[in-house]
Amino acid sequence: MRSSRRRQASFAEKRHLVGLLRAFRDAAAALPDAVVALDDDHRIQWFNSAARTLLGLKYPEDVGGHVTNLLRAPRIVDWLRLGGIDPLTDLPSPGDEAVRLNLRLIRYAADQCLLIARDVSQLMRLEQVRRDFVANVSHELRTPLTVVHGYLDLIEPEQMQEYEPILRELRNQSRRMTQIVEDLLTLSRLEAQNEIPSERVSMRPLLEALRREAVALSLGQHTVGIEIKSTYDLRGSTKDLHSAFSNLVSNAVRYTPAGGRITLRWESGADGGRLSVIDTGQGIPAQHLPRLTERFYRVSTSRSRETGGTGLGLSIVKHVLQLHQGRLEISSEIGVGSTFSCVFGPERLLEPQTLAEIS
Ligand code: ADP
Repeated sequence: MRSSRRRQASFAEKRHLVGLLRAFRDAAAALPDAVVALDDDHRIQWFNSAARTLLGLKYPEDVGGHVTNLLRAPRIVDWLRLGGIDPLTDLPSPGDEAVRLNLRLIRYAADQCLLIARDVSQLMRLEQVRRDFVANVSHELRTPLTVVHGYLDLIEPEQMQEYEPILRELRNQSRRMTQIVEDLLTLSRLEAQNEIPSERVSMRPLLEALRREAVALSLGQHTVGIEIKSTYDLRGSTKDLHSAFSNLVSNAVRYTPAGGRITLRWESGADGGRLSVIDTGQGIPAQHLPRLTERFYRVSTSRSRETGGTGLGLSIVKHVLQLHQGRLEISSEIGVGSTFSCVFGPERLLEPQTLAEIS
C-alpha cells in the first residue's frame, strides 16, 4: 500500500520535472536569439528554431555535428579556437549576407557552453548612418574652412594693428577647427577600414623620428630619451602606427610641465611587443582612465585647448591599435607621471632583417 503511494508520488514528480524541462526548452526555442548548446568538444547538442534561420542549422541532421564543420567562416573558427572570450561582432549570417550577427560564447558548466547569435542588423545600420554622417559633415566643412583659413593668412596683422588680437584669435580658432575636421576624417577612415598593409615598420628609425618630433614640440623644455630593448620590428601600417605613436608623444609633451622627462621605450618578448611613452607629467586621476579613449573626453578642457588638443588623439590611437589587433594600456600616478603603452601580439612581430636582406 505504502510502496504504491511512493511510486505514485515519484511518478508525479517525474512528470512535473519532464514538464519543467519541456517548458524550459519551449522558452529557449521561442527566443529571438539563436541558442546552440555545445559540449566540450564544440559538438552541437541542441539548438532552437532561431538557430535554423540565423545560423542555417538543420534539424535533426546537424545535432551531434562539430559546430565548425557547419559554421565555416574563418572568423568563427579562429574565435572558437581561442575560447570565444570576447563577443564576435558584425558577422554576416551564413544564409543572408545582409543579416549581421553578434556571437557570444557562454560557459555554463565545466563541459558545456552556449553559443548565442543575435541579429544586430538594425544596430549596424544605425552605426553606419552615424559614421556616414560624421564623415560627410567633416568633408563638407573642410572646403569652407580652407577658404577662411586661406584669406586669414593673406591679411598681415601689422597692416591692421587695431585688429591684431582679433586676427590672431581668428587664426588660432580656424586652425583648431581645421585640426578637428582632419582628426574626424582620420577617425572615419580608420573606422571604415577592415584591412591594413603588412609593411615592415622599422622600430629604430621610427623611435628616432618620434624623438625628433618630441624635441621640436617641446622647444627645449623637456629631456627626451629613447630606450630600444628589442631588435624586432612590427608588421602593419607604417603611416597609421606613426600617427598613433605621434599622438602619444604630443600628449606627453603637452601634459608634462617644463623640466620634465619623456621616455620612448620599445621592448618585446614571447608574448609580443610593447611601445611605451613615459612622462613625468601631472598624471591622470584613476576615475578618468577608462574613458580617455572616448571622442572629445578630456580631463581638463582648458589645458587641452590651450595646447592645441582636439580631444580625438587617443580615439585615433585606439582605432589604429585595434586594426593591428593591439590594445592601449594606461597607468598613471598624480604628480609622478603617466605611461601609455601600445601592446601588440607576437604575430605582429618581425624578426630583425639580416644585412643581406637589407641590401
Ligand atoms: P587632447 O587633444 O585633449 O589631448 P586626447 O584624446 O589626446 O585629447 O587625450 C584625452 C585627454 O587625456 C586629454 O585631454 C588629457 O586630459 C588626457 N591625457 C592624455 N595624455 C595625457 C598625458 N600624457 N598626461 C596627462 N593627461 C593626459
